[in-house]
Amino acid sequence: MRVRSCRDLCNWNRTPVERRGEPLFACRGCGSQWVPSEQWTPREADGAIPPAVLELIRSDD
Ligand SMILES: [Zn+2]
Repeated sequence: MRVRSCRDLCNWNRTPVERRGEPLFACRGCGSQWVPSEQWTPREADGAIPPAVLELIRSDD
């Protein structure tokens, strides 16, 4: 038996939408949404942080 987690499907993409001035990202796999002010970091199905997300996080420092 194998339980598939959401992360097996995760595929993050930047959307054209802005939420309170922040770019909104959406996951095609599980339907999650993310903006840079969130406390967590989105991960792709393979565990990698999406490059566009990484860029935003780094530019915050
Ligand atoms: Zn997901």
